[in-house]
Amino acid sequence: MSLLEVNNLSVAYGGIQAVRNINLNIEEGELVSLIGANGAGKTTTLKTLSGMLQPAGGKVVYRGLDINTVSNHTLVSRGLALVPEGRGIFGRLTVTENLQMGAYYRNDNADIATDMEKMFTIFPRLKERHKQLAGTLSGGEQQMVAIARALMGRPKLLLLDEPSMGLAPIIVQKIFEVIKQVSKQGVTILLVEQNAKLALQISDRGYVMESGRITLTDNAQSLLNNDKVRQAYLGE
Ligand code: ATP
Repeated sequence: MSLLEVNNLSVAYGGIQAVRNINLNIEEGELVSLIGANGAGKTTTLKTLSGMLQPAGGKVVYRGLDINTVSNHTLVSRGLALVPEGRGIFGRLTVTENLQMGAYYRNDNADIATDMEKMFTIFPRLKERHKQLAGTLSGGEQQMVAIARALMGRPKLLLLDEPSMGLAPIIVQKIFEVIKQVSKQGVTILLVEQNAKLALQISDRGYVMESGRITLTDNAQSLLNNDKVRQAYLGE
């Protein structure tokens, strides 16, 4: 069984179908990208996978659970974590407090402290700024807080929505290095990105989404070499 199985999923806003009959699966340990233009339906897909939106049709099965039959709490405690577009951090809490919020459902205090130190090793920048209010951090630093906060929940599957959005290229490089590193440590990742090139460069596989449909899927290297992908998404 795949860690995540999406069968014939459709999602609508009122009468508008944003996601049309998509199929997608993610195996444990994989880093998979979902790429596509603005408005293709990527964010809608991620929100539905994390239980935030109800499907109009089809099914999402995470670790054997139909996600629409279980509570959000169950999904989180079974290791499903979403880092939303725009990050959703707590601006009026400090960096440390944000990370503590990520461990909300855990009660293994000693391990939480260890994980906190681990986050400060992955993100030395956050260690320097651990007492600072998260709302006063730079965009890149806020993205780091959002990822670190999700990791504090010890996720099995991390859903990342546009982590590169609004960030300077050098910061984007850093964020992608961290994503690769987190993946190597065994966390399964679904990465939604408009920056298709960088996303595919660190991924095992990818899906291409157009107007609510998945139009292409392959291993990441093949997608990087695909003429259509190169023209439409890699600016070549
Ligand atoms: P982006 O990268 O710009 O976020 P996306 O691929 O993530 O694009 P979605 O945000 O999923 O695309 O949007 C898919 C479609 O659904 C778009 O046509 C969008 O206008 C529409 N849509 C998204 N959210 C809503 C909403 N709350 N109400 C109505 N329509 C919506």
